[in-house]
Amino acid sequence: MNTVSDYFGSMVFDDRVMRARLSADVYASLRKTIDEGRELDITVANAVAEAMKDWAVERGATHFTHWFQPLTGITAEKHDSFISPSPDGSVIMEFSGKELIKGEPDASSFPSGGLRATFEARGYTAWDPTSYAFVKGNTLCIPTAFCSYGGEALDKKTPLLRSMEALNKQALRILRLFGNDTAKYVRSSVGPEQEYFLITKEMYDRRPDLRYTGRTLFGSKPPKGQEMDDHYFGALKPRVAAYMEDLNTELWKLGIMAKTEHNEVAPAQHELAPIYTTTNVATDNNQLTMEIMQKVASKHGLVCLLHEKPFAGVNGSGKHNNWSIATDAGQNLLSPGDTPYENAQFLLFLCAVIKAVDDYQDLLRISVATAGNDHRLGANEAPPAVISMFIGDELNAVLEAIETDTPYAGVEKTQMKLGVDVLPKFNRDTTDRNRTSPFAFTGNKFEFRMLGSSNSIACANIMLNSAVADTLRIYADRLEGVEDFETALHEMIRKTIKDHKRIIFNGNGYDDDWIREATEERGLLNYRTTPDCMPHLLDQKNADMLIGEGVFTRAELESRCEIMLDNYNKAVQIEANTMISMVKEEIAPAVSAYTATLANTIHLKKGVKNDVACGYESTVLTKLSSLNDAIMSKTVQLEDTEEDLRNIGDTIELGYAIRDKLLPKMSELRVLVDQAETMTAKSYWPYPSYGDILFSVR
Ligand code: ADP
Ligand code: MG
Repeated sequence: MNTVSDYFGSMVFDDRVMRARLSADVYASLRKTIDEGRELDITVANAVAEAMKDWAVERGATHFTHWFQPLTGITAEKHDSFISPSPDGSVIMEFSGKELIKGEPDASSFPSGGLRATFEARGYTAWDPTSYAFVKGNTLCIPTAFCSYGGEALDKKTPLLRSMEALNKQALRILRLFGNDTAKYVRSSVGPEQEYFLITKEMYDRRPDLRYTGRTLFGSKPPKGQEMDDHYFGALKPRVAAYMEDLNTELWKLGIMAKTEHNEVAPAQHELAPIYTTTNVATDNNQLTMEIMQKVASKHGLVCLLHEKPFAGVNGSGKHNNWSIATDAGQNLLSPGDTPYENAQFLLFLCAVIKAVDDYQDLLRISVATAGNDHRLGANEAPPAVISMFIGDELNAVLEAIETDTPYAGVEKTQMKLGVDVLPKFNRDTTDRNRTSPFAFTGNKFEFRMLGSSNSIACANIMLNSAVADTLRIYADRLEGVEDFETALHEMIRKTIKDHKRIIFNGNGYDDDWIREATEERGLLNYRTTPDCMPHLLDQKNADMLIGEGVFTRAELESRCEIMLDNYNKAVQIEANTMISMVKEEIAPAVSAYTATLANTIHLKKGVKNDVACGYESTVLTKLSSLNDAIMSKTVQLEDTEEDLRNIGDTIELGYAIRDKLLPKMSELRVLVDQAETMTAKSYWPYPSYGDILFSVR
């Protein structure tokens, strides 16, 4: 196993392995299941299970697990051994088709938002044959969906697969209208760019806030931050380079095409991007990537921080969700084509995305809402919480020409008629690069940039796929059976541009002026926090669309709203409690000890000579003493607030109280503590500083 091509995908039961290890018949019917969603026959499942087990055992596996993504944000696995007793006293390694297809984890500790109570206590997992099984450590991992016995989804994969199916169905209808009779399916693809911080384990272990909450709750700004921009694309430090090399190897073994890595803007921040693939596979791969990133880091004495905002005042971490839709023949439907007809089809898909994003701004915002991500989106950091789209000047000019029936500079005819006139070739470089836009068209794909670094990409893609599917349904309903297709198409596109151009913004998304214009003049939504947006998941128009597309049931939507808010509430409550204990156990005592030293010094000095100057000591002593008093009284207020909140039973109401009462108190406490840090001798301060942490990896 020397060259990458030798070991790439060596731990994945992929198409190569299936072809080599399954009989022609079994392979053919499994392929049908994978490509066309045909049901799998149990004899086929048995044959696949047997081959999978033999393959996995050769790679050191002794156990198997149904690997799934519950609503907690991480992945879950319950390991079962392959080992069965044999009559002669020895053991045999067994794995049946039934075990491959369905599992029954004792799932009572996973959040269900009340779903299991209404239905059955236990849930089951079901194999997703479209995402390859893989070996991790000593375990064969089988990607699965996780449902209640009533069939309600308890995970992120089930609705994702449903949303892909909805998109497939509606996109095919559109393609048929354009005379494409050969496409078998249409799928969305995603390439998620993942940002993260890398710090030393030594620093991490000394920060209870990082350990309990994933972010620092205190810490004054370092003298050197990201002002110099010298980290961005800078040379990798040897330890980081070694980490990345190891990480690549581990990901490649799992068939994950990690492609680019470079430093990001903030010190200690980096990025990893894989080559894009089918959305559900990309989702599984991204979950796996986050897990492997952390594992490999620990081998290197490092810790990989995936929190959206580990350090205040330093750039946060996000995830760029590069999304496109393509046919099984590889035609990217978001890529302008060579003929007038292809261009008209491209414009229709483009318009579908524009309308979908405008109509469902709230769902997209909801899909990335977590306590952690609120520190990026709702704060003075990009992207803003307001959703807008960047499509570039060239494409914008085309849309304007269509809307107003005026000549477009690129075409000779006086009027642009779709399906007749040739569109100009869009230069990919000119449509690229608006780093401030939350939703940017980048030549042949859209880049949704609001995802938090720790988010599962499932949520965003569920909403994106569903909203676009629903728009395509409206389009197909309107266009199917019309007499003059071209005129109807032209009118429909024109109407979309007219109705939804407010969502298009090609300027600087960080600008305060933009936020004002967006909200006051254009009527775009600005949900700064999770409690602001989450309840809108159940708004009539949103529920109608998601239920109508078959992506969620009403019960699932209600349970998700409940769980997402509950996750938010708990995350912030844990942060508040961590702050309280840090102050009481270490910060206040440390400041007190330092002031005692100062007082002692003054006392000693005066003992030698009564009128000696003690300017430094007494100034700091006076300031720090009163600061420590303020810290303590603010901590008591925070404690009281936190206790009051425990009486609120309603999840939404609690969310509002956390937003309006708890978080402001936490910020106020932080300001005081950070001030104390700058005045206390370093040897007394109980925690490593921002500078220590951010520049810890060499
Ligand atoms: P950047 O946004 O930094 O310029 P790249 O252009 O390299 O980065 O692409 C970022 C991500 O977009 C990669 O994961 C890449 O595989 C993915 N990507 C490229 N083309 C597509 C596409 N047609 N559909 C979905 N993702 C894509
Ligand atoms: Mg990008």
